[in-house]
Amino acid sequence: MGTIKNNSAKKIDRREFLKISGLTTVGILTGLPSIEASTPTADLVLTNGKIITVDSKDSIAEAVVVKHGKILEVGSKEMALQYVGSGTKVVDLKGKAATPGLIDSHAHLPVFGFRENGTWVNLQSSESKEEILDAIAARAKRLPSGEWIYAWGIQDITHSFMDRRDLDRVSRDHPILAVNTGGQWGFANTLALQLSGIDSNTPDPAGAKIGKDSGGNPTGLLIHYPALYLVRRKLPVPSYERYAEALSFAADLYVAEGVTTVHDNFFFITEMSSANPAEAYLNSLESNKIPIRVKLWPYIPNVREARLAVKELFSNRDPDPNSDYRILALCKKEKPSFFSNIWGGWKIAADGGGPSALYYRNPSGLPMHSENDFNEMVRIFHSTGQQISVHAIGDKAVDLTLSAFLQALKTEPRKDHRHRIEHALAPTIKARDLIAKSGVVVSTHPQWIYKWFDGVRLLQYLDGERGVVPLKSYLDRGIPMAFGADPPAFPLYKPQVALWQATARVTEKGYRFSSSESIPTKKALRCQTMGSAYSGFQEKEIGSIEKGKLADMVVWNHDFYTIPKDEIKDVKAVLTIVGGKIVHEKNES
Ligand SMILES: [Zn+2]
Repeated sequence: MGTIKNNSAKKIDRREFLKISGLTTVGILTGLPSIEASTPTADLVLTNGKIITVDSKDSIAEAVVVKHGKILEVGSKEMALQYVGSGTKVVDLKGKAATPGLIDSHAHLPVFGFRENGTWVNLQSSESKEEILDAIAARAKRLPSGEWIYAWGIQDITHSFMDRRDLDRVSRDHPILAVNTGGQWGFANTLALQLSGIDSNTPDPAGAKIGKDSGGNPTGLLIHYPALYLVRRKLPVPSYERYAEALSFAADLYVAEGVTTVHDNFFFITEMSSANPAEAYLNSLESNKIPIRVKLWPYIPNVREARLAVKELFSNRDPDPNSDYRILALCKKEKPSFFSNIWGGWKIAADGGGPSALYYRNPSGLPMHSENDFNEMVRIFHSTGQQISVHAIGDKAVDLTLSAFLQALKTEPRKDHRHRIEHALAPTIKARDLIAKSGVVVSTHPQWIYKWFDGVRLLQYLDGERGVVPLKSYLDRGIPMAFGADPPAFPLYKPQVALWQATARVTEKGYRFSSSESIPTKKALRCQTMGSAYSGFQEKEIGSIEKGKLADMVVWNHDFYTIPKDEIKDVKAVLTIVGGKIVHEKNES
C-alpha cells in the first residue's frame, strides 16, 4: 500500500453531508489532498464503527474499504482514509456495529411474497377455526363466484380440527384450498374436491393421504404434496409479472432486516403446469431486479422427476423444448457463470410437518416416499456430483436421510459433498454423531422454538431427553450449521429472532427450554453468516467482512454483542449493503 501524507479528514475543506439513518455520509467533492497513484480510490468507506468481521479470529475492525463491489481492506480508520478520494462515499458509523450481510439458508421467496403481499389469504395470525373461516369469508365476499381462494398459514397442529363442510359454510361457489403454515397439508372445500376429481374412489397417492370419513367420502383433508397438489395444480398459475412482483416484494422485506443472501430451498418447477415461475425468477435475478443474492434449490417430488431433471440439466443432451426443466437447462447452457452463481442443488423431502412429521413416537408420522424411492432419489443426485438438501423434521426422517446419504457415499465416496438436512429438530444422539462423521450440514431454525413449541408435548418430551433444535450438540460435534427462517412456513422472517433464540430458547407463552442447548450470540451470528455461506459453497465469497470478499454488509442500530439478550430480536438494520451498493436505509427514530 502506498504511503499517504497528511491525508486526514480535517484537511478536507468542503464536504457534503447526507443524512443516512442517523449516520453521516460524507461525499467529498473538492479540496482533496492528492492520493498517490498506487493507492486505489474506494467507492465506499465505512469508518469509525465496530466492524464485526466474523473472520476466523472474530476480529473487530474500525473501518472497511469497498471498491467494485468487493472489500478492498478492513482495518483502522487511518488505513481507510488513505483510500478516500473524490468519488468515495464515506459513511461515519459513529461507533455503530456492522456485520457481514446475514444469509438465510432456507426460505421460499415467491410464496413468501404471495403471502405477504396479500395475493393469498394470510392465515398466519388466525388463532381459531372461526378466525380462519372469517378470513377466508372476507376474501370470498369480494371475489366473483367460481374464482379460486388459496389460503396459507393454518397454525393448528392437528389434522382433525376442520373439514370441507366448514369451508363449504364459507362458500360453495368458490373452490377453496386452505393449507397449513408448512405447506405440507391442508383442507379443500367440496367444490375444490369436485373440480380436482377427488371422490370416494380416489386412491391415496404414494407418500400422501386423502382424508376419508367412515363412509369413504373425502373429508377435505389432504396430507402431503402429492395429495395437496391434486387440488393445487388446478389453481390459476400467477402471471410472469405477478410472480416477479412477489419475488421483489419478499426480497425487499429481507434486505430491510439485514439479509443479503437467501437460499430458496423449494423452488417449484413441476406441478405448476407453467414455466413462468422459473422464467420470472431467472430474469429477476439476472437483471438485478431483486436486491439480494439468491441460490436456487428446485424441489423434486419423485424418482421420475429426479431422472428427468438430471437428464435435462446434467447430461450433454440439448434441452428438451417440452421439459419442465427447459428454462433452467437453457440458462445453464447459455449463461454458465450466471447459472453457477444462482444454482444451489436439489431439494427433496423425507417427511411432512406438524402431525405428519416422522418421529418414532408420532403415530401419524408419514414418510414422503417409500424408502427405496427416497434412496434412489438421493443416489441419482449424488451420482451427478450435486448437492442435496433434504427436508427432515422428525428423528426418524433424519435417520432415513442419513441412511440414504451414507449409502450413496459408500457407493460413490465424495469428500466435500455438503449434503444438507433441513430442520433436523430433534435427531437421536446416534444420528448427531453420524451427521458429524459424514460431513452433513444442518440447516436449522432456533426461531422455531419461539413460535411453535408451546404445548407440543412430543417436543417437550424430547427436550427433557435430548433437546430440541440442539445447537450446542451440533456445534460441539463440529457439525457445520446454517440458519434460515423458512418463510412462509414460519411466520417470522427476521434473522434477529434466530440470533435471540439461539441463546434464549423461550416460547412465546414463556416456556423455557433447557439452556443446555443454548449457544452464545457470537456463535449464532457465525451460523447466520459463515455457516449459511458454507452450506451453499459460498464461504469464499460471502459470510464475513474480509479482504477480497463481496461487499455485503449491514449496519445495525444496536450491537448484538452488548445489547441485553432479550432485545436482540428488536435490533434494526439501518443500512444494508449488497455488493457495495446501499440497498436499504432506515431512519433510526
Ligand atoms: Zn421450508
